Amino acid sequence: MTMHTSKIVAFALLAIAAPLAAQAPPAKGNPKDTEVWTPEPKVVTPGATDAAPPSDAVVLFDGKNLDQWITVKDKSPAQWTVANGVMTVNKNGGGNIETKRSFKNYQLHIEWKVPENITGSDQARGNSGVFLASTGAGDAGYELQILDSYNNKTYVNGQAGSIYKQAIPLANPNRKPGEWQTYDVIWTAPKFNDDGSVKTPAYVTVIFNGVLVQDHYELKGETLYIGKPVYKKYDSAPIKLQAHGDKSEPISFRNIWVRDLP
Ligand code: MG
Repeated sequence: MTMHTSKIVAFALLAIAAPLAAQAPPAKGNPKDTEVWTPEPKVVTPGATDAAPPSDAVVLFDGKNLDQWITVKDKSPAQWTVANGVMTVNKNGGGNIETKRSFKNYQLHIEWKVPENITGSDQARGNSGVFLASTGAGDAGYELQILDSYNNKTYVNGQAGSIYKQAIPLANPNRKPGEWQTYDVIWTAPKFNDDGSVKTPAYVTVIFNGVLVQDHYELKGETLYIGKPVYKKYDSAPIKLQAHGDKSEPISFRNIWVRDLP
């Protein structure tokens, strides 16, 4: 076997083995048990929102490259697309990405866009997400949902601005597909005792297109697709962006920055 061939074989084996190693066993139960469909948050038309990074921000994406990001499952350089100052989910590019740096408490600004030609419905229409703390492989962590929720019915604890399957947004200020939207987030990380029990829970405040949608919400644990949320001890964690497995057109991001908080 030549050097070249052996590299290809090793890479192929890695590609097969990595997803297996990275996935927890599938949870048992019915995902519908944790969906809430009513009442629907009221629709609010947002005003303008603009937020260039302040002087003490850690810039995570300034439109140029993915230097601050890695692929979650194998820690290799992130493979999403960067063009015209925008990064776009690459659904064939290794999946979720996360920051190289880890964070505890912080303020985050992130802008995202649902493509104008979006198709699909319910959870399969522009699904992505910001994991405010990525505590492991796959979708482990605390997800602030991204979805096209402009005239797209889904369970309300899974629409844009929700803390996935935990906290229904206080309003629906979604813009139309094709328009940029903003999340400004204040994340207070949970604290844990040595034995792994919760000392203080996580809290999150989310302003969506300038409208408050989560008001110092006390999280019940990590956000799960199936089953009730539970906490899992961690110290500091990266911020993760989701490459959701649905077939709709991919979400784009720009102007991402964070400020560490004491
Ligand atoms: Mg999502």
